[in-house]
Amino acid sequence: MEALREARKNREVSEVKQRVAVYPGSFDPVTNGHLDLIERCAPLVDRLIVAVLRNAGKEPLFTTDERVEMLRQAVAHLGNVEVDSFDGLLVEYARRRGACLLLRGIRAISDYEYELQMALMNRRLAPEIETMFMMAGEAYSFLSSRLVKEVIALGGDVRGLVPPQVEAKLRERLPPRTSQAT
Ligand code: ADP
Repeated sequence: MEALREARKNREVSEVKQRVAVYPGSFDPVTNGHLDLIERCAPLVDRLIVAVLRNAGKEPLFTTDERVEMLRQAVAHLGNVEVDSFDGLLVEYARRRGACLLLRGIRAISDYEYELQMALMNRRLAPEIETMFMMAGEAYSFLSSRLVKEVIALGGDVRGLVPPQVEAKLRERLPPRTSQAT
């Protein structure tokens, strides 16, 4: 009797649907703005999969493997966060991974229009998957991977905006341009 009750309980537990979210992006490279979002979302779900877009049309500075590796190091302290990469349709990837939620970040009004288009298209393609937007942390609402690369290339300081190991990789890849005499 006890064994039967235990078996039922185990079955119920295994049948409870895990809430899996996917956070897709280029992450070229990961910034503290991305990490702030990941740290705030992780406690709200059972599993958060950070998914690096492989065929990011825009020539990325770092390879997919490099972007994944930098992210893995940066989220190593978060037990329920996984880093993966994907190409093709995001909703198909999310379905394959059993996700019910897509996470995206909104910094300024300028993000809104594009994000809205994407979210509505994704809803059309996969009505069972919800897009969740989180506001950027105040300290990071101006921060983008593109801006960080520009600042590094011009010899500027990005401490506090990206993890230290990412800053080191950026310096290696983008030595400051020397000003040219005209
Ligand atoms: P994508 O090419 O898909 O926009 P990004 O790596 O630039 O890839 O961004 C991935 C997601 O993270 C997007 O939803 C973007 O709005 C969000 N994001 C980027 N930078 C920040 C930041 N500083 N704070 C919060 N969200 C951000």
